[in-house]
Amino acid sequence: MVSQETLEKVKKMLLEEKAKILRKLEKNMEEMDNNRDRQAVGDDADNAVAMEMENLMNALSGMEVARLRQIEDALRRIEEGTYGYCKECGEPIEEGRLLAKPFATLCISCKEAQERKKY
Ligand SMILES: [Zn+2]
Repeated sequence: MVSQETLEKVKKMLLEEKAKILRKLEKNMEEMDNNRDRQAVGDDADNAVAMEMENLMNALSGMEVARLRQIEDALRRIEEGTYGYCKECGEPIEEGRLLAKPFATLCISCKEAQERKKY
C-alpha cells in the first residue's frame, strides 16, 4: 500500500512535469508561428518550411506525447487507487522507486526480469 504522503508527492511531481511539457509544446507552437510569418515567401519556400517544421514537431511531440500519456496514466491510476502496484506481479512497488520514477509501472524485480529478457 502506498502511503498518502507518497501519493501526494508523486501527484505533485506528475502535475509539475505535465505543466512543464505543456509549456514547452506551447513555446514550440509559438516558434513555429513566428518562423512561418518570417519565411512566408512563395509557395515552394512555404512548403519546405512547413515540411521541416512538421518533422521537427513530430520528433519533439512524439517523445513529449509519450511522456504526457505516461503522466495521464499515472494520474488516472492514482485516482483509481491502483497506483503503485506492479503491472506484472501485482505487488506494491517500492515507495523510493516511485518517488524517483513516478511513472514506474513495474516493481524492481519485474523490471530487472524484463531488462534481462530484452538484452
Ligand atoms: Zn512485479
